[in-house]
Amino acid sequence: MRHFAGNKWGMKMIMEQTRTDQLLDSIIKENLKPFVKKIDLESYYAKDYISNLGEKGLFNSIDHSFVETLEREALTVEKTSESCMTTGFNLWCHLAALTYLRHTNNEYLRSELLTKLEKGEILGGTGLSNPMKYFSGLEPLHLRAVRTDGGYVINGNLGAVSNLHDDHWFGVIASVGGEQEMMAFVPCYAKGLTLKEQVNYIGVNGSATYACKFKDVFVPDYWIISSNARSFTDMIRPIFVLYQIPLGLGVISASIQSMKKAPKKQGAINRFLDVQPEYIEEKYHSLKGMLISLIEGNELQNQLKELIRLRLEVDYLIMEAVHGDMLHYGGAAYLQKSHPSRRLRESYFLLNLTPTVKHLKKMLVDWK
Ligand SMILES: Cc1cc2nc3c(=O)[nH]c(=O)nc-3n(C[C@H](O)[C@H](O)[C@H](O)COP(=O)(O)OP(=O)(O)OC[C@H]3O[C@@H](n4cnc5c(N)ncnc54)[C@H](O)[C@@H]3O)c2cc1C
Repeated sequence: MRHFAGNKWGMKMIMEQTRTDQLLDSIIKENLKPFVKKIDLESYYAKDYISNLGEKGLFNSIDHSFVETLEREALTVEKTSESCMTTGFNLWCHLAALTYLRHTNNEYLRSELLTKLEKGEILGGTGLSNPMKYFSGLEPLHLRAVRTDGGYVINGNLGAVSNLHDDHWFGVIASVGGEQEMMAFVPCYAKGLTLKEQVNYIGVNGSATYACKFKDVFVPDYWIISSNARSFTDMIRPIFVLYQIPLGLGVISASIQSMKKAPKKQGAINRFLDVQPEYIEEKYHSLKGMLISLIEGNELQNQLKELIRLRLEVDYLIMEAVHGDMLHYGGAAYLQKSHPSRRLRESYFLLNLTPTVKHLKKMLVDWK
């Protein structure tokens, strides 16, 4: 399968791509696949897997162009989600945090934390669902910040932030006096911040998701990502959405393989089903080609609308793919611990991940 389009980058790029594929495959085989059932059924958080990707250089942006980095990281999200979308989502959270620090002008965050995040020494998350909805006029901001000596004091609650652990950091946006918004990078150990684990979901319980309560949390100036969070969010939104697309592609790809491998029982009765793997596969390749073209076009800032449409197309295809897989796999799929049932439950999280399907639809209508 081709991940980097065309031969224009020559043999060197192809060899590098092959090395990355092989490295990723071996990390997934050793550090992710053996834990997938535990992640799904016992809320196990595959922290070591994500740290390992960093240790092996798969988040390194310094020695690579922007396009190379995006392409490699999008592929890493897809391959991870092919085995386990819960962990693919954790990875997306980390990549969102990386995106914030790669784009901030704050020298402290860039010099002290960015390299550690890229090496997997510390991991990151993002509390931007509420602000994304706020900037679309859907709900008020849930965090409030008051200016004080050398920083801000933050109060409020975030219902769900994932990929968190004692030493992790995450991005938040707070309203300042109801007129402005600031964005900060906050460690889970910040004084006044309380985390309450959330594991009662129908899926993705291994996503290390916590409700976050901010009670007079002091955020020093050197943790500020941007004092103009609105324009900063406009800048990073295309990448934020882009990294979500391979979450769906990975699950779709796994569902296609699963349908193809489904037992050929009862006189190959699956051929009577409306959804066939070849049909999903053709669409999958087309959507993946669009994603690669968007990345390689290197004009993401002007292509948010195309990314939103692509994310929606992937959301629609994931629904067909996981439901098709449930039908092809039959009774065995209906077992709680089956892979098709895990993917069915995981897929509904993607549909309800901000920007949710309803939010994406609204964005397209607003732009008309
Ligand atoms: C497992 C999980 C992980 C998430 N991780 C993150 C993250 O890392 N960062 C982030 O910023 N956001 C996170 N979110 C939020 C997510 O991105 C979406 O914003 C959210 O799932 C759906 O948004 P919504 O617009 O449908 O509804 P919401 O805005 O969540 O809520 C809509 C309505 O449902 C109510 N509601 C919400 N949750 C519950 C509940 N548990 N029980 C009863 N009523 C409820 C709300 O009060 C509201 O009235 C996570 C959500 C889930 C489920």
